[in-house]
Amino acid sequence: MFRARRTRYTATVEAVTRIAPRMARITLGGPGMSAFRCDEPTQWVKLFVTDPLDGRAAGRAYTVRHQSASRPCIDIDVVLHGKGPAARWAETARPGQEVSFGGPKGSFQPVPGADFYLLAGDESAQPAVLTIAEHLPPATRGAVYLEVAGPEAEIPVPRQAGLDVIWVHREAGRPKGQALRDAVLAADVPRHGVAAWAAGESGAVRDIRRHLTENLGLDRRHAYAKGYWKLDEADHRDPLASD
Ligand SMILES: Cc1cc2nc3c(=O)[nH]c(=O)nc-3n(C[C@H](O)[C@H](O)[C@H](O)COP(=O)(O)OP(=O)(O)OC[C@H]3O[C@@H](n4cnc5c(N)ncnc54)[C@H](O)[C@@H]3O)c2cc1C
Repeated sequence: MFRARRTRYTATVEAVTRIAPRMARITLGGPGMSAFRCDEPTQWVKLFVTDPLDGRAAGRAYTVRHQSASRPCIDIDVVLHGKGPAARWAETARPGQEVSFGGPKGSFQPVPGADFYLLAGDESAQPAVLTIAEHLPPATRGAVYLEVAGPEAEIPVPRQAGLDVIWVHREAGRPKGQALRDAVLAADVPRHGVAAWAAGESGAVRDIRRHLTENLGLDRRHAYAKGYWKLDEADHRDPLASD
C-alpha cells in the first residue's frame, strides 16, 4: 500500500495541543522537512513512531490537517484511543522529540458536475473531512457528518455558507462508527449531482459505501469510501478502498 521509495522526512515535535479531550494536535517542523509539500485535501503521511510501551517501531497513516505556507511545518490531529503504538506515542509526545514520516500520499479532486457533497467521518477522518470542506468553493452545498463521543469533543469548524455541519454523538457503550453510519443512511440528499466522501471505522464505512452505491445509486467514482481503521485489528488496510 505504501511505497518504501517515498521520500522520508525527519521532523521535530514543535507543539502538542489538546484540541478535544481525546484528540491531540501535533505540530511537526524543522529543516528536515523543508522539501515537504502537500497541497491537496485529504493528503496523508506515514508517521514512523516508537511505541512507548515496548520500544517497537510502527508506521501509521495520518492526515496533514494544515501545512504552513511560510515555513516547513504541518499539523496532524491524532485520536488518543490508547490501544495502539501511534496513539500511545501521541499521548506522550513532547516538544523537541524527533519523529520521521514518509509521503505525502492520497488526493482529492472535486467531482465535475457535483453540486452537493455528502462528507462523513469519525474522529480519525475528521481532519480529512475538514480539509475537503475548507477546499470546496464557498457556495458549494452539502452536508458534513462528524461522529464524536459527545458535545465536549466538538471542535470549532470554519463556517462555510452552503455546508451544514452535523455533529453525531455516540451513545455510551456503542462501538465507534455505528452512529455515523445510521446518520448517513438517514441523510436527506438530492437525487442528482451528489458526490460523497466517507472514512472511518471499516465496518461502518462498508455499510456507508453500500448505501451510497446501491441505495443512492452513486457512481463508484463519485462515492469515495475508505476504512481508516478497523475494530480489533492493528494497522488495518482497507482492501475495498479505491486507492
Ligand atoms: C489515509 C488515512 C488517514 C488517516 N488519518 C488519520 C488522522 O488524521 N488522525 C487519526 O487519528 N487517524 C487517522 N487515520 C487512522 C489511523 O491510521 C488508525 O487509527 C491507526 O490504526 C492508528 O494506529 P495505532 O497504532 O494507534 O493503532 P493500531 O495498532 O493500528 O490498532 C490497535 C488497536 O487500536 C484500535 N484502533 C485503531 N484506531 C482507532 C481509533 N481511531 N479509535 C479506536 N480504536 C482504534 C484498533 O482497532 C486495534 O484494536 C488515518 C488512516 C488512513 C488510512
